[in-house]
Amino acid sequence: MNISDIKHLITDRTAKFLARGTHPLLIDGQWVQAESGQTIDVINPANEEVIAKVASAGKADVDKAVAAARRAFDQGPWSKMRGAERERLLMKLADLLEANAQSFAEVESLDNGKSAGMAQAVDVAVAVDTIRYMAGWATKIEGATSDISVPFAPQAEFVTFTRREAVGVVAAVVPWNFPLLLAVWKLAPALATGCTVVLKPAEQTPLTAIMLGELIAEAGFPPGVVNIIVGDGPSAGAPLVSHPGVDKVSFTGSTEVGKLIGKAAVENMTRFTLELGGKSPVIVLDDCDPATAAAGAAQAIFFNHGQVCCAGSRLYVQKKMFDRVVADVADIAKSMALGHGLDPASRMGPLVSREQMDRVCNYINIGMSQGANVVTGGGRAGEKGYYVQPTILTNVNADMRVVQEEIFGPVLTAMPYDDIEEVAALANNTHFGLGASIWSNNLSKVHRLIPKIKAGTVWVNCHSMLNPAMPFGGYKQSGIGRDLGKASLDSYLETKSVYIAV
Ligand code: NDP
Repeated sequence: MNISDIKHLITDRTAKFLARGTHPLLIDGQWVQAESGQTIDVINPANEEVIAKVASAGKADVDKAVAAARRAFDQGPWSKMRGAERERLLMKLADLLEANAQSFAEVESLDNGKSAGMAQAVDVAVAVDTIRYMAGWATKIEGATSDISVPFAPQAEFVTFTRREAVGVVAAVVPWNFPLLLAVWKLAPALATGCTVVLKPAEQTPLTAIMLGELIAEAGFPPGVVNIIVGDGPSAGAPLVSHPGVDKVSFTGSTEVGKLIGKAAVENMTRFTLELGGKSPVIVLDDCDPATAAAGAAQAIFFNHGQVCCAGSRLYVQKKMFDRVVADVADIAKSMALGHGLDPASRMGPLVSREQMDRVCNYINIGMSQGANVVTGGGRAGEKGYYVQPTILTNVNADMRVVQEEIFGPVLTAMPYDDIEEVAALANNTHFGLGASIWSNNLSKVHRLIPKIKAGTVWVNCHSMLNPAMPFGGYKQSGIGRDLGKASLDSYLETKSVYIAV
């Protein structure tokens, strides 16, 4: 599938973008090659062919990008720009992204493997919404006044208030599962609050970040406000997050790398937020319609091929409905046509990389070796492209690695339970705490369960529903801090207390 083979499936804009030579880095408003001259091959996971090359940044490029972001924040026009002007630029960016939605979706599909239709409806559309939502906050950043009493100076009078000030240069490090959307989750609040940014997309999926960089320039953001460096974690990510010129790190990715980043950030007292892994439970109570619950459970695990931090990867069904719900989820899994993301008939695309495919298949094997039964699926599909069959494992227990560890693929474990107390304990019995869904129409049981679940988001009769207005993040080892919502702005702002004796 080289470009001439797929030309009829993609827009001219996408074809032209892919036909370019090596995609450069965006530093200080200039598109530049990496100092080392090294490049990274971008692979289409549907057919394992190289679709593009990107410059591979190292420490020297990181230094230049951070210096540019520093200048733009400390001295450049950005430092003097008012909230209303930042809002206007963000709104312009949202309009440009919306106008180019199809091309972004096509490139995301070719780069990541996901369905282009889904990418347009979810990744791009939600990215546009997120930019617009955050743009609105640019003019609504406010402190508070306090009427203070001072016991040792009862006659003294003070005017006291707090100011919210942009934290400074933000290092945004994002993964490959929602490349554009997660970049926007970081960029939009950072820019709304007046920060500048160095963005590092995942080396596997850098293309839509580069396209976004072009729109950022077109929208009129001053040079250095957003810098984009592509490179792998050790060569580009590590020097970025430990750079003394960075004021805040915003990371989404694995818990393992999140811990490394937190430790590196603390060395410089760099602020950080971490949106990390999950092992989210889907809890089905026996009062609900089994077919509805099964459809919801299938969507919870198989959306984006299971490569979702809040994927519903552990299914718990109350005993009397267990066999029925598992059989229905298995029927849905078996009916899912695997195919490349530009094919509208395909229901599930390839995983992002050979490494991820091998990792997921290895987990399935570990599950089987520890005694799990494979209800459907069980391994790789085909021999070309990184496809994995949607897989359901039963006869599992809480100690198994497939129940405890984040697999990040289309693999569901299913267990029966007796009552609410038992399922709450099972649901909480991992290191993670990102999300959970409850499927029931019994309000009183639902409300008794919600407070028992240790997770940043609880969905009822839905799963993975996200909105720019609602904070998203994890309890326990699923992270620190929140993305989205008003709550996310706090982590891009410092609070300054001012006392004026009058
Ligand atoms: P990582 O956590 O390694 O990658 C996320 C981002 O961090 C990427 O941009 C990566 O760069 C970068 N990175 C890696 N190492 C460092 C470092 N030392 N310092 C700074 N940045 C770094 O995820 P993987 O891609 O390796 O995926 C592994 C597993 O992580 C998955 O199988 C899944 O379980 C989990 N994961 C969870 C996600 C979530 O949203 N919860 C998202 C993605 C993965 P690069 O990739 O370019 O090397």
